[in-house]
Amino acid sequence: MGARDLNITAPAPGPGPATALGLYVHVPFCATKCPYCDFNTYARIEDLIPDYVGALGNEIATWGAALGRPSLATVFYGGGTPSYLPPDQFMRLAHCVEAAFRVMPGAEITVEANPDDCSPAKLASLLDAGANRISIGVQSLDDTLLRRLGRRHDSKQALGAVREARAAGFDNLSVDLMFGLPHQSQATWESTVHQVLESAPDHVSMYALTIEPATPFAALVQAQELPEPDPDRAADMYEFACEAMESAGFRHYEISNWAKPGRASRHNLIYWRNSYYLGVGPGAHSFLPGVRFADLKSPREYVRRAGSLTPELANGVSWVEAAPDVVRALEAAGVIGSSERISRSLEMAETMMMGLRLDQGVGNAQFQARFGQNLAETYPSEIADLTRLGLLEQDAEGLRLTTRGRLLGNEVFGRFVMTAQPA
Ligand code: SF4
Repeated sequence: MGARDLNITAPAPGPGPATALGLYVHVPFCATKCPYCDFNTYARIEDLIPDYVGALGNEIATWGAALGRPSLATVFYGGGTPSYLPPDQFMRLAHCVEAAFRVMPGAEITVEANPDDCSPAKLASLLDAGANRISIGVQSLDDTLLRRLGRRHDSKQALGAVREARAAGFDNLSVDLMFGLPHQSQATWESTVHQVLESAPDHVSMYALTIEPATPFAALVQAQELPEPDPDRAADMYEFACEAMESAGFRHYEISNWAKPGRASRHNLIYWRNSYYLGVGPGAHSFLPGVRFADLKSPREYVRRAGSLTPELANGVSWVEAAPDVVRALEAAGVIGSSERISRSLEMAETMMMGLRLDQGVGNAQFQARFGQNLAETYPSEIADLTRLGLLEQDAEGLRLTTRGRLLGNEVFGRFVMTAQPA
């Protein structure tokens, strides 16, 4: 069965989101489950780890073989807590990736880590397995807040983890922070930002807390035992962070991300540029030409289904041509749990929605090369309206959000998404 039978649209013309892929590898294990978290991660299923790594390796091998061992520009081990895996299991996983794909020289290989896992021995094992970038889940440097968030580390451990990661040899280091937390004061937030800057990371991600349905935090808010996030206070914290990060020499390259020169997350840029990536593991999302899909969510069921896959070699076609048949085969095998056909107009709208999150915005030349038409002819009324409202600005290079547009991003993104036609 080919792409037409699946109703998957032909890949858009132009550069090369098709030449190299990003690979996301999901590790659904955590030592404990944080009460605000709605990621597809679980505590107390460690008995599954060896079989899980085997099944995940099998899915990785299946994709690699069927797509003809395509090149990877980035690999991102996320979760969950990849650093929670025993070193031999993480190494096994890394070997599977290297055997199944061509990991490009200089590829960015990120591993997410929690501070309580960052012992010198664990960090050395991650480097041995090929990781060259670490993203540490610091979240806050206020011990009361860390306890409230259900984190297993304190501020001392968090700063110690950053130091240990540097000492081990990670020269590309990112820190994750959260703001807008219950009972968080502006002063404690400012102190956290200052201390993080003193620890000299290369990259910082900052996200406001959102209360996700069906989490313990949602129940506490419902019972009025936890205050709802206050958007005005969160906006003040964000504004402070923007100024502090800029003064410290970081580029605010994406709405929630700051980087020292040359240290933007290349893997996340694949998402924001709406390029193609493959996600493996339960609940992991992928975007390949004409289709978005996600693996089934249950880790136990995933082990059963992915463990039974039989890798089959590509028949000499490019990975872009091979992909629809592989998606179909993995849907039939029950490994892919949901999928959505992406029309050309939706791909264009999503390219706007994601690209406008970046400080560089969406480039005219890139859009023209990818879709064969320019921004002005594709979105004349949207660009005119949003520019008049002071939310978008344009020049010869392309379109980007204004400062006001960054605060009202969802309003802007919605205008583009409304233009999309179903596949
Ligand atoms: S450690 Fe991260 S992934 Fe795991 S439960 Fe906490 S927030 Fe979620």
